[in-house]
Amino acid sequence: MAVIPHRISEIALKTLSVLLLAVCAEAAEKKIKVTTTVTMLSDLVKNVGGDRVEVLGLMGPGVDPHLYKATAADVSKLQNADVIFYAGLLLEGKMQDLFAQMARKKKFVYPVTEAIPIESLLEPPQFAGHYDPHVWFDITLWAKCANTVATGLSEFDPSGTPQYQKRAKEVQFRMEELHRWAQQRVKELAKEKRILVTSHDAFNYFGRAYDFQVVGLQGISTVTEAGLADMTKMVDFVKKHKVKAIFVETSVPHNTIERISKDAGVKIGGELFSDAMGTPGQMERGYDLGTYEGMIKHNVNTIVDALK
Ligand SMILES: [Zn+2]
Repeated sequence: MAVIPHRISEIALKTLSVLLLAVCAEAAEKKIKVTTTVTMLSDLVKNVGGDRVEVLGLMGPGVDPHLYKATAADVSKLQNADVIFYAGLLLEGKMQDLFAQMARKKKFVYPVTEAIPIESLLEPPQFAGHYDPHVWFDITLWAKCANTVATGLSEFDPSGTPQYQKRAKEVQFRMEELHRWAQQRVKELAKEKRILVTSHDAFNYFGRAYDFQVVGLQGISTVTEAGLADMTKMVDFVKKHKVKAIFVETSVPHNTIERISKDAGVKIGGELFSDAMGTPGQMERGYDLGTYEGMIKHNVNTIVDALK
């Protein structure tokens, strides 16, 4: 008589444990859905969030954030996100209204550059009263943005807080090392050789952090095309200062810099990453160009090698 109930309870237990396992596995697999904009930011969020997050970046390699307009698919990626991070400071110029809209509807929407103290921001005259958004080229400033990421993820997922804080600290430690490496590498150039000529004004923070005179053709963004007057001035400048090389950028058309190169008889020193990183997995001298570290190392090596 006792055999049947025993067997039933055994079967029930087995079924229950299978069910429990399935529930646990699902909970472990359920990652926090984070939507970001530029590639540098996606990299930062992946590094701080680790395996608790799944990051969807709206902009890929070579994409210009100043001109980028959200597609219908992007809007649904933002709507479906648990947490949204964007750069801010008008970097994503044409998406501002969309972020404002998302911030009204959702709780977890963060511009990461809010972690940077206002007194550390640059406001160059050509930016017409706006802050310069290209903060990632001062590694010490970009490191601060890891704090906004850790806070934002913790607000949505409080149980992950210790992990986010620990990982943010590790990210910041690696960035300090990268900053010191960049300082050492640029020391190979004498002060008078540290002149960086590019097509759009993305390198003002780089110039301040690593002691370069930075000359860009375009103002706040890539929206305005360089005028002829600026071109002539640039050609004169390059000749006068005997600049050894000027640089094109991956996310900006090359034509103006190529024209100046021809007119001033100066070589193009290489292609720099300005507003987007390279393709993930593309290796160069042992670093991955699809990472923030790879982007910085590529730029610094390219600049120093060409101007030496
Ligand atoms: Zn830019």
